[in-house]
Amino acid sequence: MIHDMIIIGGGPAGYSAALYAARAGLRTLVLEKLSAGGQMALTDVIDNYPGFVEGIDGFELGERMQQSAERFGAVTELAEVYRLDLKADPKVVDTDQGVFLARSVVIATGAGPRELGLPGEQALVGRGVHYCAACDGMRYRGRTVAVIGGGNSAVADALQLARVAEKVIIVHRRDSLRADKVYHEPLQKLPNVEFRWNSAVSEILADGKVTGLRLWDTVTGEMSQIAVDGVFVSIGRKPASGLAEGQLELDRSGYIVADESTRTSLPGVYAVGDVRTKQVRQVVTAVADGAVAVHYASEYMA
Ligand code: NAP
Repeated sequence: MIHDMIIIGGGPAGYSAALYAARAGLRTLVLEKLSAGGQMALTDVIDNYPGFVEGIDGFELGERMQQSAERFGAVTELAEVYRLDLKADPKVVDTDQGVFLARSVVIATGAGPRELGLPGEQALVGRGVHYCAACDGMRYRGRTVAVIGGGNSAVADALQLARVAEKVIIVHRRDSLRADKVYHEPLQKLPNVEFRWNSAVSEILADGKVTGLRLWDTVTGEMSQIAVDGVFVSIGRKPASGLAEGQLELDRSGYIVADESTRTSLPGVYAVGDVRTKQVRQVVTAVADGAVAVHYASEYMA
């Protein structure tokens, strides 16, 4: 069977594309690795998606988006995509559940946390190393945590953790925050938040679980150590664009190059949501992309 559209990734961008495609009568398949919602599913409360007066749990919103698309006949297959042939006609999507064919492909694989890249970091994930304060912050009630980074995410994480933890230490490699000014004052007013400026992490100290961080001063080169029970790495995100490498144009950071039309460098292939080059990565901009992709894909297939 040849699908009209295969959508890779079941986050808000993917399921909005699926809703529009299925509702337009296209034979639509969503390939999702785990469960609906993508990064959104890891968020406790989403307050900036219109229509939910009290906010909504990200996981629930993901499931609702899936149901909305399936109501019009979109099909979800739990499968991990290994390889794409986007130049072929029809396009080929090779997965652990077999090979799927489609006239158009929408890439909605999103983005994931950027890692520090230190030895031992991966082995300590969940044992003191975390990438999501909203998901794991509650474990640190009354304890000491570090937040690495100085952008809006790091600051938002620090504010959230400060409500739970005994002490939050923000470790930033420069002497000022990149985060919007509106965050600076509330953060500096909190008695349990400390800053370690001009500091980069050179080692995560652990004995089975995290016990501290070794830091180096980016100005003087001096080394020091801090004791922490957990570390939240909040240094930006990286796009999940590996499948497109060598086939689609990517920018320097690895995002799939596509403008507001979501069209990529290959006809019939669209990039939506956080994996595409764009200025504002939010749930509302992701769902908008899904609708736009179906508009251009329908035009292409006609
Ligand atoms: P970001 O703005 O790119 O900030 C990343 C931070 O991590 C920067 O301070 C950067 O340091 C630091 N960093 C990067 N690589 C590092 C490394 N290897 N080691 C140590 N530090 C490193 O990323 P983000 O904070 O995740 O935000 C992403 C986007 O989402 C932004 O557009 C942001 O405005 C938006 N966002 C908005 C809100 C909000 O408005 N409420 C909340 C969260 C996110 P340098 O400063 O030295 O480069």
